[in-house]
Amino acid sequence: MSCLFCKIVAGEIPASKVYEDDRLIAFNDINPQAPMHVLVVPKQHIPTLNDLSAADDELVGAMARAAATIAKDRGFDGPGYRTVFNCNAQAGQTVFHIHLHVLGGRVMTWPPG
Ligand code: AMP
Ligand code: ZN
Repeated sequence: MSCLFCKIVAGEIPASKVYEDDRLIAFNDINPQAPMHVLVVPKQHIPTLNDLSAADDELVGAMARAAATIAKDRGFDGPGYRTVFNCNAQAGQTVFHIHLHVLGGRVMTWPPG
């Protein structure tokens, strides 16, 4: 398996882990775009959002809840934070194993670039 995030899940590549349970891990992004920039990643390999099925609903819900918990633990629940799933080329997806970006600690602009 040549997937970067599968290698992080397997412990073959180090990551700065901030959360882990039986189906998810979360770690700091190597190229942070905000003071908090965490990636919430399912242990199961799913390439893009287009590949989700109804069977994954609970997993994706757990990803959203983990993101909210991580943000709350850092005090960003009140001030606010942003969550992003990039899907495919025009959105800038570079790692084809789904991940939820969790960004906080600065003012975010809208619309995004
Ligand atoms: P995306 O562009 O949505 O596919 O996001 C991929 C993210 O993975 C980018 O924000 C990268 O900075 C991040 N990334 C790439 N390699 C690593 C790594 N080894 N550890 C942590 N984050 C990484
Ligand atoms: Zn993978």
